[in-house]
Amino acid sequence: MNIPEIFGEHVYNDVVMRSTLPKEVYKSLRKTIDAGETIDMSIADTVANAMKDWAVSKGATHYTHWFQPLTNLTAEKHDSFIEPCGGDGVIMQLTGKSLIVGEPDASSFPSGGSRDTFAARGYTAWDPTSPAFVKEGTLYIPTVFVSYTGETLDKKAPLLKSMTAIDRATKRILKLFNIECRKVSTTVGPEQEYFLIDKEVYEQRRDLMMTGRTLFGAPAPRGQELEDHYFGSLKPRVAAFMKDLDETLWRYGILAKSKHNEAAPAQHELAPVFTSSNVSVDNNQLTMEIMKKVAARHDLVCLLHEKPFEGINGSGKHNNWSLSTDTGINLLEPGEHPESNTVFMLILACVISAVDKYQGILRACVASAGNDHRLGEDEAPPAIISVYLGDQIGAIVDSIVLGKNYVPSKPVKGSIGVPESPIFPIDSTDRNRTSPFAFTGNKFEFRMLGSSASVADPNIVLNTIVAEAFTAAAEKLEKSENFEKDVKAYSDKLFKAHYRVIFNYNGYGPEWESEAERRGLLNNKNTADAVPEFFKKENVDVFVRQGVYTKAEAIARANIQLENYVKTIRIEALTMADMARQQIYPAVSAYTAELCSNLAAKKATISSIPTASEEELIKTLAVAGENMMLAVKKLETDLKEIAVGEKDAAKRMAHFVVPDMEKVRTYADEAEKLCAKDYWPFPDYTDILYSVR
Ligand code: ADP
Ligand code: MG
Repeated sequence: MNIPEIFGEHVYNDVVMRSTLPKEVYKSLRKTIDAGETIDMSIADTVANAMKDWAVSKGATHYTHWFQPLTNLTAEKHDSFIEPCGGDGVIMQLTGKSLIVGEPDASSFPSGGSRDTFAARGYTAWDPTSPAFVKEGTLYIPTVFVSYTGETLDKKAPLLKSMTAIDRATKRILKLFNIECRKVSTTVGPEQEYFLIDKEVYEQRRDLMMTGRTLFGAPAPRGQELEDHYFGSLKPRVAAFMKDLDETLWRYGILAKSKHNEAAPAQHELAPVFTSSNVSVDNNQLTMEIMKKVAARHDLVCLLHEKPFEGINGSGKHNNWSLSTDTGINLLEPGEHPESNTVFMLILACVISAVDKYQGILRACVASAGNDHRLGEDEAPPAIISVYLGDQIGAIVDSIVLGKNYVPSKPVKGSIGVPESPIFPIDSTDRNRTSPFAFTGNKFEFRMLGSSASVADPNIVLNTIVAEAFTAAAEKLEKSENFEKDVKAYSDKLFKAHYRVIFNYNGYGPEWESEAERRGLLNNKNTADAVPEFFKKENVDVFVRQGVYTKAEAIARANIQLENYVKTIRIEALTMADMARQQIYPAVSAYTAELCSNLAAKKATISSIPTASEEELIKTLAVAGENMMLAVKKLETDLKEIAVGEKDAAKRMAHFVVPDMEKVRTYADEAEKLCAKDYWPFPDYTDILYSVR
């Protein structure tokens, strides 16, 4: 297969655009895409027609306005190109109007109370900055989704607005340094973790089917302690899946780059080459969908849940984030002497101040029922936001804040001590996997995001809060009479004021929690406690000031997040109760009954036969079964008392129902360890985690 030839073959990309559009139309469209100018309506019909002809040549019969409602998923409604043309015939048509606006019924999408149910009208509007593509016989047109009254109902519109905000603010900063550019874009490279399990095994687990994670399961005798899975050689079925996945993604123009086994058994990762945030978000949505579809082709199931299995690592999505100009400068590139790179130091200081000041919403935007199980466990950063700077930048900031002496280090040449191996320059920073927000040489890596989440959310927040910090800096420094002196003083002041958020050590260590508390950093461990940060006035205000959300939109989104949490826990709790009552208890009871009848038979045959172990087993199983059923009852009672729309429903779910569920699970897992394998009603952790070869 010729990869460069197939790459992007399903995409209406720049090359195709250039070859299918008249020159003037192409130029005008390019201007809209590159400079963010409003589209010239007079070219719409021509573009639509060219796009349709191209799509039809790729086998498309339909088109859809593809959008991203507030669900973490994408939505699509397919319309065919057919148009009656007099007589009995039809022609294939896409008008400019149909390309540019659509009008899906918006009433069945989450709105967080921002609209009345009867206000059903919603509009989708073409986003020409992300390319259209043909998939499964339909032309997909990326769009934003807004209500009749103009509120955004999706993740795309605010993402684009946040990109505009940071573009505007960064250019003001660059202007102070006489750096010219037309556009500043944020770039994102999301590393996607996932699990692959056998389809047949999956289909026997109601919890996996209903909730995406196992609600029960005693640990397998072998977990990840041998550290042999990470980067291990790929099993044939996994390798075949990954090959198929890469090829499929490449055809959609997605820059799939690295693939490897992750730390937990059955866990893997895919990392793309980074691109503009907007395209990256679309590509990641498509990647998640395609992963599931390709898995199905291989009789596998791809799990994107943040914590499908207890006791082994969960899955995240590292959000690598940077800023670059259209002239090709990465603004987070420190250069050889960061200490004297004043523009870099100012940008760094602003980012640090934003992360500290708005740590509440940065944490809140990645909160979900799934991610609650992951943050603060061994595999993921804690729920506390902190920034890791690495040795070199860390030492520079220490020198500013603590007055320590900073000796610029010369680039070190390294050798790995093997004579044949070459000498290579050593990176100036080591890695720190435990930090939620780590500077990794020329970008920040935000590691708190969960694997199933939309990449849009953290980038909306990140772009907005950094734009706010840049705006504040620009406002101050634009008035400066002694720029050289004032810019350094401004950065230094920020480093000093926000030094508490910098933490260059082990974020997984037990001491960090108390140290963070002493520093006054937030530690909101679950969604119910984290999300209300969005309601605080100072946090709403930053979105409003940067033109990303109105007050109503900001609040609606937080409400949806909480509602979603409540609904997710409810589904999990109900699934758990069903499985306990209908599957686990009958199994435990049947096995206990068999043990009892065996015991009676043995005793009747030989009265002196030793039966102590058997009796103990019967008792322990009976106690575990009984306790589990009592815990189920308590779970059901607590659940019944919480209505979805209730004000503190999320908190009550987090503080009552979740602990109830943990109890049910503890007793069930105890029973599982004692129950005969043949009696256990569904595949166990060994079956699930080790069945793909
Ligand atoms: P790792 O952190 O796993 O060692 P890399 O350093 O290769 O991996 O990069 C991880 C991810 O960061 C990749 O998806 C890559 O495209 C992305 N990345 C690299 N540079 C940038 C940048 N300037 N902006 C955004 N993402 C970037
Ligand atoms: Mg990484």
